[in-house]
Amino acid sequence: MNRSRKVVVLCHCLMNANVKVHPLATYAGVLDLIWTRFASQGVGLYQLPCPETSFLGLSRWGMTSEQYDHPAFRRHCRQILSPCLDQLEALHRDHCSLVGIVGLDGSPSCGIFRTCAGYRGGEIGCKQTDAQGQAENVSYVSGRGIFIQEFLAMLDERGIAVPLFSVDEKFPDIIKTF
Ligand code: SF4
Repeated sequence: MNRSRKVVVLCHCLMNANVKVHPLATYAGVLDLIWTRFASQGVGLYQLPCPETSFLGLSRWGMTSEQYDHPAFRRHCRQILSPCLDQLEALHRDHCSLVGIVGLDGSPSCGIFRTCAGYRGGEIGCKQTDAQGQAENVSYVSGRGIFIQEFLAMLDERGIAVPLFSVDEKFPDIIKTF
């Protein structure tokens, strides 16, 4: 039996930068750190779906956590996570160690320790609502993204606890844990 019985759970774009909001990708496809820190150590990689791409596609604007904090988006997150939870529970029951969840800090959906906030209403490009000021109003704040909130709640409902890690795209050579 060669299997390591170790799996790390990754936000989708850590293995596929092509789903990010244009033009946010700072690496071509797979973040190098995922290979060096996990794959080369025999840890299996479990890639979660990208909730923003399946909800709004690749023509979406960058948005804040307030904008994604809506029952329809939360329901969408739960729908796409449901089969993932079934697989992760099967691995867990098979005595496979879920060594961590790696999220993407700053994301309104996948932030683990930090997310982005600051929506103040209005239409992009409309002078009355001051798009420039709106962009400047966005900031990174402590807290989890909406998708991660739902994911952690669903893991909790199944009695599965997993350590949390995150990558900040401004410092892609570092994985944070607390
Ligand atoms: S951070 Fe999450 S929602 Fe954003 S592109 Fe990556 S996987 Fe998709």
